[in-house]
Amino acid sequence: MAATLLDGRAVAQDVRAQVARDVAALTAETGVVPGLATVLVGDDPASAVYVANKRRACAEAGIADLHRHLPATAAAAEVAELLLALNADPACSGILLQRPLPDGLDDAELSALIAPDKDVDGLTPISAGRLMQGAPGLRPCTPVGVIELLDRSGVELEGAEAVVVGRSDLVGKPVAHLLLQRNATVTVCHSRTRDLAGVCARADVLIAAVGVPRLIGAAHVKPGAAVIDVGMNRLPDGLCGDVDFDAVRDVAGLLTPVPGGVGPMTIAMLLRNTVAAARLQLSP
Ligand code: NAP
Repeated sequence: MAATLLDGRAVAQDVRAQVARDVAALTAETGVVPGLATVLVGDDPASAVYVANKRRACAEAGIADLHRHLPATAAAAEVAELLLALNADPACSGILLQRPLPDGLDDAELSALIAPDKDVDGLTPISAGRLMQGAPGLRPCTPVGVIELLDRSGVELEGAEAVVVGRSDLVGKPVAHLLLQRNATVTVCHSRTRDLAGVCARADVLIAAVGVPRLIGAAHVKPGAAVIDVGMNRLPDGLCGDVDFDAVRDVAGLLTPVPGGVGPMTIAMLLRNTVAAARLQLSP
């Protein structure tokens, strides 16, 4: 039987509608309007599109748009000064430093300046440490989007065999920690994994975050498994995931399409994080 497809667009729309209600409730309760500062340095066209999408989504949810744009020639000290000013600005609930930064600017060094309670991308070393230790904090958007999709589909994580393919700081590692916190038994695979298909085929829940088009085929999937495809690979004939959709569709129980699966969840979770950040800053 063909897998049930997880409609990330519909789930993301639902999350965004809930965020809009949460914003209204927060403002009614406290007078605070959450604000997101997207920081774009330079004129990378893809980054400009991503930032424009985030700003539009903020406006729709009632989040104040505190966007800042610096020229590609900005010195590290200028970017640092802006980030520190946003840290100190009570109108700014969350800060998102858009990657990649122009050559000559150190992404890790600058991101680390963002106050942890405003780190709505959840990617600074302090946020990563909080996640690893299971302490409260802001979590990375795409990984929490993956968990939200699984939860909304009723996938049981406790005790499940979960296999994550990919170990990046952006997706693979945080999603593995989130699954571990939900009491899944987690295996993380990477480019040196022996017998990738054999390991993946054990999974009740298989997450592919690799960046290799259609790497995961039918032989990698246990019949009935939930398969989440994080991959976004741009090929001449369009966007494709890390999962061979046509082959896996007949084996998996649940499957995310690309596009329309995990992708739309990332912005929805950014909005949710911005409201969570506003609440964090209200707590003593
Ligand atoms: P990344 O930093 O390049 O990491 C890729 C990971 O895959 C690495 O851990 C690498 O292993 C592993 N890998 C590469 N080739 C492999 C192979 N043949 N077998 C097993 N593992 C292999 O990528 P990323 O930033 O995590 O992104 C992964 C994918 O997700 C990309 O397609 C990206 O565009 C997409 N993505 C989508 C969203 C979204 O919103 N939907 C967000 C972020 C990323 P090593 O560590 O050994 O090198």
